[in-house]
Amino acid sequence: MIEIRGLIKRFEGKAVTRNAVDGIDLTVPEGQLVTLLGPSGCGKTTTLRLIAGLERPDAGEIRIGDKVVYSSDDHVYVGVHQRPIGVVFQSYAVWPHMTAVQNVMFPLRSGQKKLPVPEARRKAMEALDLVGLADLADRPAPALSGGQQQRVSLARALTREPEVLLLDEPLSNLDKGLRDRVRDEIRAVQQRLGITTVFVTHDQDEALAVSDEVILMEFGRIVERGPAQQVYARPRSEFTARFMGISN
Ligand code: ATP
Repeated sequence: MIEIRGLIKRFEGKAVTRNAVDGIDLTVPEGQLVTLLGPSGCGKTTTLRLIAGLERPDAGEIRIGDKVVYSSDDHVYVGVHQRPIGVVFQSYAVWPHMTAVQNVMFPLRSGQKKLPVPEARRKAMEALDLVGLADLADRPAPALSGGQQQRVSLARALTREPEVLLLDEPLSNLDKGLRDRVRDEIRAVQQRLGITTVFVTHDQDEALAVSDEVILMEFGRIVERGPAQQVYARPRSEFTARFMGISN
C-alpha cells in the first residue's frame, strides 16, 4: 500500500509559474496497479520520482506499507536505496557488456547485500523465469530484443523483492505490436506477485488495458480517479472526456 498526503514539489526557475506536483493525495491499495495518466508536463513522472526517492518533495507525506519514507512535518526522508521499491524506466537501462542474468544479478552482488554468486544467480534465474526469459539468461544483453531487454529490467527490479513497483512509461520505446505483449506480460507478473504498482503513461489505451484504477492528472493535480472503465465510460469532467478522446 502507498499513501500520499498533501504532496508538493516545485522546481525553481524563471519561467516556473506553478508547482510541478501541487498537493496530491493518493492511496494505492495493497496489490493494485494504478496508472498515472495525463498530458505531457502534468506531473506524472515527478510524482513517481518523489515516491521512489529520486526527487525530494517540498511538503507532504509518503508512506510505503507501514513505513513513512517522507514527512515534511516530522522531518523524515528515507533515501532511494533504503526504500522498498523496484523501478523500471522508459529506457531499458540494461548494461550492454553483460548477459541477461548478469544484469539481473548485479544489484544482488553490489550495495549492502553482496550475495555469493550461486545464491545471486539462483535468485536472478527465478526472476528471469517469472518474466519468461530463463531460456535466454546467458545471452548478451545487446542480442536481446527491446521487449526482452525491458523484461530484463523488470526482473532486475523484482530481485530486490520490493513492496512496491514503480514503472515510468516502460513501453514507450517499444514497437506497437511488442508494446501490447510486454504490457500484458507486466500485468500478468504484477497480478501473480500481487505487488502494489504505480504505472505512468500518457497513453489512454495502455491505461485502460492495464489498470485497476486510473488517476488522471492536469497541472500537477489529480482531476479524476476511478476504475478504468468508469473513467472511460462516465467521465466526470470535460477535461477527462476530451483527454480520453470521447467528446469533441
Ligand atoms: P511527460 O509525459 O512529458 O513525461 P509528465 O506528466 O511526466 O510529462 P513531469 O515530467 O512530471 O511531467 O513534469 C512536470 C512539470 O515539472 C513540467 O512542467 C516539467 O517541465 C517540470 N519539471 C520536471 N522535472 C524538472 C526538473 N528537473 N527541473 C525543472 N523542471 C522540471
